[in-house]
Amino acid sequence: MVKLTLDRMAIEEVGLNPRRLAEAIHVQLGDREGAVPVHEIAESLDVDEIRERPLSNLEAALVTTPERDRGGVLLNSRSSRQRRRFSLGHELLHFLNPIHEQTSANGFHCTRQDMTVSAGLQISDRHRRQESEANAFAIELLTPRHRLKSFLRGRPELAQVMSMAGEFDVSREAAARRYIELHSDDLAVVFCKDSRFVYANFGRDFPPLSIRAGEWCDLGSPVLGTISGFDEVAADDWLAAPQHACELSAQTLWQTNGHSITLLRAEQSNDDGPGFDDAIERFRVGRDR
Ligand SMILES: [Zn+2]
Repeated sequence: MVKLTLDRMAIEEVGLNPRRLAEAIHVQLGDREGAVPVHEIAESLDVDEIRERPLSNLEAALVTTPERDRGGVLLNSRSSRQRRRFSLGHELLHFLNPIHEQTSANGFHCTRQDMTVSAGLQISDRHRRQESEANAFAIELLTPRHRLKSFLRGRPELAQVMSMAGEFDVSREAAARRYIELHSDDLAVVFCKDSRFVYANFGRDFPPLSIRAGEWCDLGSPVLGTISGFDEVAADDWLAAPQHACELSAQTLWQTNGHSITLLRAEQSNDDGPGFDDAIERFRVGRDR
């Protein structure tokens, strides 16, 4: 494989914003198809050692100097290739941002939970803010916006999430989080194990959920490897505040080992709109017969 050459100074000139840093890398990469070469990118930006070892409590770690002139990343070999690719992107931002403070005496130690901290909320905690920035960078790098238009077109569909995951070689979880972040509908993604709530991520305007970790979610009967239709669900079962004008529907992908991914779509309903109009229409049709 031809070694990748990137101009690190030109990339760092754009500042510390994770999205702009990732975009600056893509400007230099040019138009490419398939998975983003995150290992080659990290190596060309002075992360000169990338190793994989079985780790029990961590997903990844970064060892570097305060000047960030060189870095070494350790990835959890027990995790899937897709997760390791995301973890490497995540560590690369800790490396490229000299303001990020290492989380232990030996460098940055990042857990599975750190890899899911999302931006959007006001994050006052320094550690959580660093992690959310590293995650924002990783997903911008691995699934660049300019290549996502065809996936985000039309009604929401988990099939599109799976296509994204395949095209960019990222996990379905990461693809789903990216999908709800950028789709124009009001979406959330809910991750469950054995139909019990684990965690959720929300699009910009999605109303807050009432459901908490460990609670049972009414998702229907699991059928391994399938995607359900988009079915209406009771908003009161899911949403924190009463949302009288909100209709909620859900679509679930049933995965192995009891894991599932559910897309929730919130739509504003028109109280005296469609229902009333339908009734008038039925009345007219009946009368004209
Ligand atoms: Zn981290």
